[in-house]
Amino acid sequence: MKLSKRNFLKFNLLAFTTSATASLPTFARLHDEPQKWTGVYDVVIVGAGGAGLAGAVEAIKLGLSAIIVEKMPFSGGSSALCGGSFTVPQTSFQQAAGITDSPEKFIEDMLKVGKGKNDPELLKSYVVGAQKQLKFITEERGIKPYEVAVFAGMSVPRAHNFKPSEVLIDMTKYVTTNGVKIMYNTTAQRLIWNAKAKVVEGVECLTKDNKTIFLKAKKGILLASGGFARNKKLLEKYNPLMVAADPEGGMGNTGDGLLMAQELGADTRDMMYIKGTHGYRPSEPKFTTTFHGYYGGGILVDKNGHRFANEEQSYKLLADESLKLPNGISYLVFDEPIRQSRMKSRAVEKAYLSQLNNGKSVPWCFEASSLEEVAKKAGIDPKGLVNTVKKYNKDIETSGKDSVFGRTQLSAGYGKAVPLKTGPFYIYPVKPRLIATYCGLSINGKGEVLNVFGEPIPHLYAAGEVTGGVHGAAYMSGTAWGKAMAFGRIAVENMNK
Ligand SMILES: Cc1cc2nc3c(=O)[nH]c(=O)nc-3n(C[C@H](O)[C@H](O)[C@H](O)COP(=O)(O)OP(=O)(O)OC[C@H]3O[C@@H](n4cnc5c(N)ncnc54)[C@H](O)[C@@H]3O)c2cc1C
Repeated sequence: MKLSKRNFLKFNLLAFTTSATASLPTFARLHDEPQKWTGVYDVVIVGAGGAGLAGAVEAIKLGLSAIIVEKMPFSGGSSALCGGSFTVPQTSFQQAAGITDSPEKFIEDMLKVGKGKNDPELLKSYVVGAQKQLKFITEERGIKPYEVAVFAGMSVPRAHNFKPSEVLIDMTKYVTTNGVKIMYNTTAQRLIWNAKAKVVEGVECLTKDNKTIFLKAKKGILLASGGFARNKKLLEKYNPLMVAADPEGGMGNTGDGLLMAQELGADTRDMMYIKGTHGYRPSEPKFTTTFHGYYGGGILVDKNGHRFANEEQSYKLLADESLKLPNGISYLVFDEPIRQSRMKSRAVEKAYLSQLNNGKSVPWCFEASSLEEVAKKAGIDPKGLVNTVKKYNKDIETSGKDSVFGRTQLSAGYGKAVPLKTGPFYIYPVKPRLIATYCGLSINGKGEVLNVFGEPIPHLYAAGEVTGGVHGAAYMSGTAWGKAMAFGRIAVENMNK
């Protein structure tokens, strides 16, 4: 299939309209060794997203032969659809902006955000791989970040923001023009264990025309097959709360790599820390960017008009709270001064909120001159909402602290909570989406997959969203796409040592 930005967008849309189960592999019987290998390579890579393509880049740099099997008819995975934040410490872009950062500061921040549940060995490798990959993208390929931004938990700005599709299209072009074949519509189904050599020797795959092929890897197999946001059975198993979230991201995110490695005794990490993302409009595929109006002072209520959480906390924790409500839907209530302040602070929110000018109606947000009216339009209890706002305003105006959930700030560590008094008033229904799973196979700093005894499974490597251990208990923005590209490089580099 011809690779273009249009195709990426087309399949992005497809992700919302096609049944996820259609692309699930039909797992075949476990083979020890096939009679005949279909192809022999130094490196066999499962998945052509950020991690798999970065692995292929490393293979090219090391002069290794490599092949990628990709079950979709296009490359990119979640990586091509993501927000484009790539978190890397101590870079030339930070230096140019006068930002002082260091790997130690990054690791300290990550451990704080991850509540010490993440693995410092992985974080050290992350830095090396991420710096290498950032240089590749920017210096060798000439794609520059449009900003270096700061997100929650970062002590300095270090999220290098790119247009992700541009990076993924370029990486796909780079690897394919440098001798790496991507076999599209080809699903890896099982890993092949060589009982004599005691190594994972290859991968059994199913092609589009139902042909089973066997690919042998002389140096190693890289599982880069992404997470499992689209596998309800696995979500049910590891964190049932997430079943109510709308899955978003690559259609290939069905946990295949996780299952294949588990069959060979692989251990997992961080499975209980999967979190959704709060701020999305439900069933509105066009609005794929989050709207965090609560960080401008808005409040969140349920269908009864009652608040259910402290809105200053992380949008990931707000997602947990929201998912406990019927259908996972909550309602963001804000007023005109909050709309104005959000338009000033985030360009992406300005693009939405400026559509509300002059009482214009839009399909994704309700607007009225009074709280009662806007509540009626949104289908929530007007009396409940009016009472909630009255109490909230009184608390904030008298003591600066809401007496129900203890809110004092706009977002944790920033600004002062404000009353909602000046119309027009707005209500935006919100439903959490599950954009990534942030947990998975246990790996070491070399990208080797570890078994339940903590020992490397010979010749089996993993990178990206199929792995756990980098984020720990919570996620710092820019480190999921970041870990994919960083560990793609690290894993293949180590196969050659
Ligand atoms: C909307 C959105 C916004 C996000 N924003 C950010 C952000 O700004 N910064 C950040 O750090 N993270 C972000 N993330 C998360 C991040 O994009 C992902 O965690 C990361 O890109 C995953 O990379 P990956 O290479 O591991 O997986 P993917 O990019 O998903 O690639 C996996 C590939 O493997 C293929 N595959 C799966 N199973 C098989 C199989 N059996 N055989 C063959 N192929 C298979 C898939 O089809 C897919 O192409 C975001 C995610 C989404 C959805």
